[in-house]
Amino acid sequence: MSRKLRPYSASIFDSLGRKALEKKCINLGQGFPDFDGPEPIKEAARKAIAEAHNQYAPLPGVPVMNQALAEKYAAEAGLEFDPKREITVLNGATEAMYAALTAIIEPGDEVIVFEPIYDTYVPTIEMSGGQAVPIPLVAPEFRFDPDRLRAAFNERTKAIIINTPHNPTGRVFDEAEMGLVRDLCVAHDVIAVTDEVYEHLLFDQHRHIHMAAMEGMRDRTITISSTAKTFSMTGWKIGYTIAPPAATEAIRRLHQFIAFAVATPFQWGMAEAIQRRDSLIPPLHADLAAKRERICAALSDIGFKVIRPEGTFFVLADFSAFSDKPDLEFAMDLLESEVAVAAIPISVFYKHQDEAPFNYLRFCFAKKTETLDAGLERLARLK
Ligand code: PMP
Ligand code: GLN
Repeated sequence: MSRKLRPYSASIFDSLGRKALEKKCINLGQGFPDFDGPEPIKEAARKAIAEAHNQYAPLPGVPVMNQALAEKYAAEAGLEFDPKREITVLNGATEAMYAALTAIIEPGDEVIVFEPIYDTYVPTIEMSGGQAVPIPLVAPEFRFDPDRLRAAFNERTKAIIINTPHNPTGRVFDEAEMGLVRDLCVAHDVIAVTDEVYEHLLFDQHRHIHMAAMEGMRDRTITISSTAKTFSMTGWKIGYTIAPPAATEAIRRLHQFIAFAVATPFQWGMAEAIQRRDSLIPPLHADLAAKRERICAALSDIGFKVIRPEGTFFVLADFSAFSDKPDLEFAMDLLESEVAVAAIPISVFYKHQDEAPFNYLRFCFAKKTETLDAGLERLARLK
């Protein structure tokens, strides 16, 4: 293994997922639905295959997909993007984040991130020679200290990554939080890189704010999102970046070397999904909203202290009532004991372990009702 990769261990999603399979656990760990996405999306991909859309897609994406995305942002956020020069379809938000960060980071640059942090950001920043500067979202509210954020901006700051709705806490950044980030980006000439993969998974009064739509931010934001969570199709890996033309050119240069193109029929399928989003998303959302209620109520009843998520399909649960072990150990115990349920310890999402809480597990509720109920029934053995 090259020296550059040696510092990074295998992903918790992979290692825990494999163990969950081995031990025949109920897997409420890795964030993916155990049910299928909507039929019309699959039908659109099947049609594309039947109609011979099976060769390499154009590097920036199948034009119908780029166009569908441009229309979505115009309709939802009043943002006019050029589908040819600003939108690039990539292999999930994962490749999109890698490409975006590689496109802008120079050795020595600092990138501000919020902890707990999605696991690909820090390795990606560091492999480009940059340095991640973590700002904690402080438990149990999981909000950041505004003064600490202000103090993190300096002349080396190149970018800030904003993931809202936030994995794993379920927080949705509000107007005040987004406004402060905006003000600091403008004042310090910093690029905002957003991870908006849960943009349609919002509950109660919470609303998604597109950073690119805030005053002065359109041309200093790289918007990243994905169709994986929105349409319950994580296996298709269709994500994208929206960035000003110069950054888009750099992103495409990198994509040229990594993959060159993204699976053609799945782009056709997702173009249709995006065009039909107003009818496809509400039933998916209603199902997840009901499951959120179900899991929050059941976990509380068992004795967990639940952080009700404002968005995403994850819920954090404080397990201090059952154990004072650190979260990773407790998660392993749950896997290996008669409970046999997989959940994700959140301390692994901290670069600085001294800032991490060790008393939360993340449960994914994008599961069939019978999977959820079986998992909750087993967790009730902790009572
Ligand atoms: N960012 C966050 C915050 C995520 O939770 C995930 C997992 N879906 C991704 C990025 C990766 O998305 P994709 O599957 O589209 O690569
Ligand atoms: N985003 C998913 C999660 O947070 C995991 C995706 C992956 O396994 N890489 O669980």
